[in-house]
Amino acid sequence: MTKKVTFLALATAVCFAGCQEQNKETEADNATEPVRAGNTQIVDLTHSFSEETVYWVTAKEFELEVVAKGQTDNGYYYSANNFATAEHGGTHIDAPIHFAEGRHTVEEIPLEKLIGEAIKVDVSKNALNNPDYLVSVEDFLEWEKKEGKQIPDGSIVLLHTGFASYYPDKVRYMGTSLRGFEAVKLLHFPGLDPEAATWLVKNRNIKSIGIDTPSIDYGQSKDFQSHVILLSENIPAFENLTNLDQLPSKGFEVVALPMKIKEGTGAPLRAVAILKN
Ligand SMILES: [Zn+2]
Repeated sequence: MTKKVTFLALATAVCFAGCQEQNKETEADNATEPVRAGNTQIVDLTHSFSEETVYWVTAKEFELEVVAKGQTDNGYYYSANNFATAEHGGTHIDAPIHFAEGRHTVEEIPLEKLIGEAIKVDVSKNALNNPDYLVSVEDFLEWEKKEGKQIPDGSIVLLHTGFASYYPDKVRYMGTSLRGFEAVKLLHFPGLDPEAATWLVKNRNIKSIGIDTPSIDYGQSKDFQSHVILLSENIPAFENLTNLDQLPSKGFEVVALPMKIKEGTGAPLRAVAILKN
């Protein structure tokens, strides 16, 4: 009896410690609060990779295989996993080669295209209730009017549609939970109007672009022209970003570093924003 009680107490203590540990991990995974670092704030723009991660409907989903997890016979704890993923899923980068022959592969993208001053164009008011919303030239001109200046040369441009708030609910986030080629025509989410992509590359000088939806082209796109226009100019695209609601419209930096896959057309991305003051 005594033995049983002791065992139960021990089990509870272990569970308590374990549960606390687990809660801590869950909080970190879904961190939405900026992290303070000196006089800057860091906002994580990245969704965690897990079995919930949203992938393009024809792409292989994320897999995590536990190789080891627990105490070893030699007296230390050891854990290790294998993972498998398509290049294009979750928070990831589209390297220019994805839609433009002869342009940069992932490891060829110059680092300065992935790090630097950024702006946010907030279209969530119009996009949240219109899953076929196209970010337009007018949206960029409105940003410029409000800020009293042109989109600065060398900017990283983030498009905030608000759709990250639906993630990882696939029906709300991308229009369907079905998968495979048949599901492509069921996709509905906002993207960048090809006309606006053309305007950006002809009239402004941006380094890279990002969006909080599965693709820089909207869900109903048939020919992915915004991809073609931007990537042809060696402008990489970040997709499935999150927490853009926590960013101001200007005055912050983005660091968006992909896994350095040789000859990769895309790669999982860890993207953060650094806010001054
Ligand atoms: Zn992609």
